[in-house]
Order: sequence, then C-alpha cells, then structure tokens
Amino acid sequence: MARRKFLLRFRPNIVSEPVTYLLVKDFGLIPNVLRASINDRGGKMVIEVDGKPSEIAAGMSFLETKGVEVQELMECVERDEGRCTHCGMCVSICPVEAFSVDKGTWKVSFDKERCIACGMCINACPPKAMQLM
Ligand code: SF4
Ligand code: SF4
Repeated sequence: MARRKFLLRFRPNIVSEPVTYLLVKDFGLIPNVLRASINDRGGKMVIEVDGKPSEIAAGMSFLETKGVEVQELMECVERDEGRCTHCGMCVSICPVEAFSVDKGTWKVSFDKERCIACGMCINACPPKAMQLM
C-alpha cells in the first residue's frame, strides 16, 4: 500500500463527475478529500489516496483522460525566514493563498497551515527561501 497526495483541477465541464466514487469503484483506492473548492465554473481539490502504487497511477491516468489536471504534491514546504526578501513573487502564484502581504509594512507572511505543498513557489522564489523539506 502507498499513500500519495494530489491537487486536482477541474474545468467547468467536468465538475459534476463523481471522481472520488470512481476511484473507489474502478481502482480500489481510498481517497480522502483534504480540501475542495469547486463550483459550476470549475475548481480545485486536494486528495490523499491510499492504494497499490500501480492502481494509484492507473486512477490518476484515468482522471487525466477525463480532463482533470492532476498534480502530485510534495511532503512539506518550508520558508527560510532569513532568506526571504519579501519581494512578493510568490503571492499570486500560490493556488491556496498561503501568502499574504501586510499593507502597512509590505512584509509577506507565509501560512504553513494553508500550504498544500504543490511546490510552485519553490522555483518562483528568487532567493530560494521556499524549500522542500
Ligand atoms: S518569493 Fe521568496 S523572497 Fe519573495 S516573498 Fe516569496 S518567499 Fe519571500
Ligand atoms: S508550496 Fe508554495 S505555492 Fe504551493 S501551496 Fe505551498 S506555499 Fe503555496
């Protein structure tokens, strides 16, 4: 058995597909929805999936054939506070708004609790303050 985490992005035409049900029924997987934000214009879902590695791979390939954008998530992303220059490059990149800007000081805060470890800020951060742990 393996456990992996994925970010799923849905276009408007597939928001009504019962994806978690299909992962259980057709692939024997155990999905756990960690976060979801979906409406009729599309949306995002973070799921943790338990199952055999080959079945997880087959299930995710199936979702891609249905038009779902599948991105595997990393374990943990941290910020090295000493390196951060508060440039703001990460703020608009983060899909879950884990960064916020203080309008008074223009300092950028990082809310680790919101982070889903998608890794998108790692390459975007000029001084490499965002790191995979
Ligand atoms: S991109 Fe890097 S240096 Fe810039 S605010 Fe974000 S974490 Fe800080
Ligand atoms: S890895 Fe970076 S971009 Fe991705 S959710 Fe966490 S803070 Fe946001």
